[in-house]
Amino acid sequence: MAKSFNNVVIGGGVAGLMYAAIKSQHEKVTIFETPSKKNELGKRVLISGNGRCNFYNTNLLDKKMFEDFPFDSVKDIVISGSDFYSEKLFHFLLSKGLAYRTENDLIYPYFNRAECFHSFLLSLINHDNCEFIFTHVNKIDRASKTLFTSQGNFNYHRLVISTGGFSYDRTADYSLLDSLAVNYLKFRPALCPVIVKERIPKYLIGNRLKGLISLYADDKCVFKEEGEVLFKENGLSGIVIFNATIWMNKYIDKTLRLTIDFTHYGPNAIDKEVSIFNYPEFLIRYLKDNDLKINDSLCFTFKQFYDFKFSQISYGGIDLSCINHDNMTLNVDDHVQIIGEVLNQNFPCGGYNIGMALIEGYKAALL
Ligand SMILES: Cc1cc2nc3c(=O)[nH]c(=O)nc-3n(C[C@H](O)[C@H](O)[C@H](O)COP(=O)(O)OP(=O)(O)OC[C@H]3O[C@@H](n4cnc5c(N)ncnc54)[C@H](O)[C@@H]3O)c2cc1C
Repeated sequence: MAKSFNNVVIGGGVAGLMYAAIKSQHEKVTIFETPSKKNELGKRVLISGNGRCNFYNTNLLDKKMFEDFPFDSVKDIVISGSDFYSEKLFHFLLSKGLAYRTENDLIYPYFNRAECFHSFLLSLINHDNCEFIFTHVNKIDRASKTLFTSQGNFNYHRLVISTGGFSYDRTADYSLLDSLAVNYLKFRPALCPVIVKERIPKYLIGNRLKGLISLYADDKCVFKEEGEVLFKENGLSGIVIFNATIWMNKYIDKTLRLTIDFTHYGPNAIDKEVSIFNYPEFLIRYLKDNDLKINDSLCFTFKQFYDFKFSQISYGGIDLSCINHDNMTLNVDDHVQIIGEVLNQNFPCGGYNIGMALIEGYKAALL
């Protein structure tokens, strides 16, 4: 007979660990995690934010921001109770001794080191009540409440799925999602550099240009943000480009063009003709080679995203309409909860992705 567990989590990442931190205070929790060299939990935390782990954003704590959350695609999940939960979660973390620092809206561990948030997160778990099984879960049968793994089959009473996406170091495998029998969008890379159709000349590669970056889907402007673009061998990179990939994914069926207006933006906008000798060599050359005037924007056409390996999140996942946003249960099966990046919620850079994974782990554990 298959071994049976009360609270099972598939995926010992940010969301799964947060869930276990709360649930294990009073109940037994069993976490299934794909085996790795060191069988580490919460691996993403260690590599996030360039080793600094930007784990939250002050916008997630500001109730006013929820009403006017700037990112349409995820507004619903952010609003539905998350204002309440995000505050409660943050108070909980503070009560457990979290030390942090803020830089503009971004929240980092106090010592600016991801390892510190990683060890803090693990310290929240009551290890007497938590069991870790390092085996990959291949599929689920919701009718018989069974998990299928290479170490055999297991039964669950309640199940939490927090398997994340396919970015960085994962292999694309849809067997678990298929076995769930719910609507999901196949993952695509996001928060990553993009390849453009235009040739990037050698003298541009490695240079950076600040400006107002706009994304046009066919001829409609769907995204605008100030930032710095880094020119790469075959495309563009930089945080502002990463953020634009959320909207590129949304409008993937359209012709997508990115423009860089490097003079008419922000408090230092150049509103009159200035001498070309103020310009860096690479820009003078590029304008000349492309018959552009001194104040013309640069324009690039999207070809494709860089591979998952270079992406920080995966766009797509389980449709948000399949879950009850208040407690993260599946509408068709209230013994199953879905949390974190495996949901089709796609946030820009700035601590939103880890932040929402933590909020959802916390929210799910209160059921
Ligand atoms: C390079 C990089 C930098 C990033 N920087 C930031 C940042 O600074 N701020 C921010 O907010 N976000 C950042 N992110 C994104 C953030 O790390 C993720 O959005 C977040 O970790 C998602 O949490 P999760 O718990 O949903 O998934 P994950 O943390 O990815 O955890 C999922 C877990 O499930 C396990 N798993 C998957 N399938 C199975 C299975 N079938 N059986 C058993 N186990 C399974 C995986 O091994 C993994 O441990 C970054 C991502 C990358 C790649």
